[in-house]
Amino acid sequence: MKKVGLTTTVPVEVLFAAGVTPVDLNNIFVTSGKALDYIEYSEVEGFPRNLCAWIKGLYATALLTDIDMVIGVTEGDCSNTKALIEVWQSKGKEVVPFGFPQNRRYEIIVEEINHLMNYFNVDLEKVEEVKRRLYPIRQRIKYLDELTWKTNQATGFENHLWQVSSSDFNGNPNAFSDELEATIKEIEIRPPFPQNEVRLGYIGVPPIIEDLYDLVEENGGRIVFNEVQRAFTMAKEPIDTDIYQMYLNFTYPYHLNRRLEEIQQAIEERKLDGIIHYTQSFCYRGIEDILIKNQLKVPVLTIEGDFPSKADARTKLRLESFMDMLKDFKE
Ligand code: SF4
Repeated sequence: MKKVGLTTTVPVEVLFAAGVTPVDLNNIFVTSGKALDYIEYSEVEGFPRNLCAWIKGLYATALLTDIDMVIGVTEGDCSNTKALIEVWQSKGKEVVPFGFPQNRRYEIIVEEINHLMNYFNVDLEKVEEVKRRLYPIRQRIKYLDELTWKTNQATGFENHLWQVSSSDFNGNPNAFSDELEATIKEIEIRPPFPQNEVRLGYIGVPPIIEDLYDLVEENGGRIVFNEVQRAFTMAKEPIDTDIYQMYLNFTYPYHLNRRLEEIQQAIEERKLDGIIHYTQSFCYRGIEDILIKNQLKVPVLTIEGDFPSKADARTKLRLESFMDMLKDFKE
C-alpha cells in the first residue's frame, strides 16, 4: 500500500478513503531511534545548523524510509515547509501541497480539500463515510483525555502520545483502536494520582525533549492538558460537522487568539496551576510567547528544545524551580 508522509495533521480521511497509508513524518522521526543521524544527514545535504531540527528530521525521514510521497502543508503550519518541499522535489520526491487558509474562509478550505480529493481520486461521499468511521475512535481518545484530567488516572505522556498519534492513526485505524482500547482498560483500573499534585498544561508544538513528562511527574506534578495534541484529535466536533468545517474548526493552523481562548477555558475547567510553553529553537512560533505570557492568567514557564534528547541540566533546574514555586502557591 502506498505510504504518504505528512508534515503535520491534514484531512487524513481523504487518504484512508483512497486506500493509501498516511504516515506522520514527525512521529516516525522522533521514534525512529535514528533522529540524530537524520539531522546529520540533512546538514550534510546542506540544511543550515541554525534551522529547526524537526524540519531536518522530516526531510531525511521522507528520503531515507519507505515513504512514497509527501503532503506538505504550506499554510498554517511551518514557514519553512515551502522551501522544504522545493528541496524534496529537486530530489525527485513527489509532493502535494496543502494549505489551511489563513483567512479561515469556508470556500477556500473547500478548494483545498477538493484538490486533495481530486489528487487521490476519491469523492466526498467516501470521505464523509471515513469521517464517520473515525468518529468513535476520536471519541475514545477524548475519553482517554478525561481519564487524564477528570479521573486523574492517565499520565501526561499517555495523553500526549495517543492524541498526537491521531494525525495518522498509526496508518491503521482498526489496529489503533484495538491498542487504544487495551490502554484504556489498563488505565481504568489504576488508582488516581494524588489530589495535591501540581496540575500543568502543555502548550506549543509537541516536545522534542524526550523526558519532559517524566520530569514533571518526578517533581510532583502532571501535565493534564496537551493543547496542540488535543487539537489534532478533532474530538470536539459533532459527527455531523462536514469535513470542510471540521478542518476549519481545527485551531492549530489558525490565529493564536482562538488557541488562547481554548487554553484559557482549559485552565479553568481542568484547574491548571501553571503552563509550560514549549518552543523549538529557531522556530518563528517562539515569538508567540510574548502574547501567551501577556494573556494567560496563570504562571507560564517557557522551555526551549533543540535536538531530540533528554532535558539538559538547565532545563531540569528551571522546571524544578517552577514546580517548587507552584507547590508554594498551592499551599
Ligand atoms: S517547530 Fe516551528 S520551525 Fe520547526 S517544524 Fe514546527 S513550526 Fe516549523
